[in-house]
Amino acid sequence: MTLDDGQEKDPRFVAMLRELKVPVTMFLTKDDIQDDYGYFKPLQELGNRIQDHTVTHPVLPTLGPEGQKREICGDRDALTEQYGTAPTLLRPPFGRWNSATQEAARECGISGIVMWRASMQIHDFQYDDPKKELHPGDILLAHFRGPKQLKGETMTQMFAHLLKQIEKRGFAVGRLEDYISVR
Ligand SMILES: [Zn+2]
Repeated sequence: MTLDDGQEKDPRFVAMLRELKVPVTMFLTKDDIQDDYGYFKPLQELGNRIQDHTVTHPVLPTLGPEGQKREICGDRDALTEQYGTAPTLLRPPFGRWNSATQEAARECGISGIVMWRASMQIHDFQYDDPKKELHPGDILLAHFRGPKQLKGETMTQMFAHLLKQIEKRGFAVGRLEDYISVR
């Protein structure tokens, strides 16, 4: 389960994760979190890793190698300073990347680019699979979003829908970093 960007900072979501202990990996964008870095610390203290999602959330392939490096290393620097550990994974914004992204990521100490198989909307996933099924090992994407982006629903309501979709198929959520070998 991956949670991206970091715009919405709903304290009830922290309480929810504390109670449910569902493992998440957070790919955070500096521009979305710098008004309140502290919000994500209790989520990190639950054992969840914070990973790279660039400084300004650009379409990386529209930038040259140096621009891409600034975006990836800049987020790495902010996350390392705030959270005490350097990111090892990159989620490229919009899932868009090219060979320059791989090179820039490597130079920023990132050892893996992580995409996804299904992304959470408000009540259900948008699936890569035409049969709309989930499979063991699928990487799921959701976002720190609130009522403004979720047509009035809260982050915790969205997350509850998401967990129901997973559970009704008989799956449980594992921790991404436990399934990815990082050099
Ligand atoms: Zn994003």
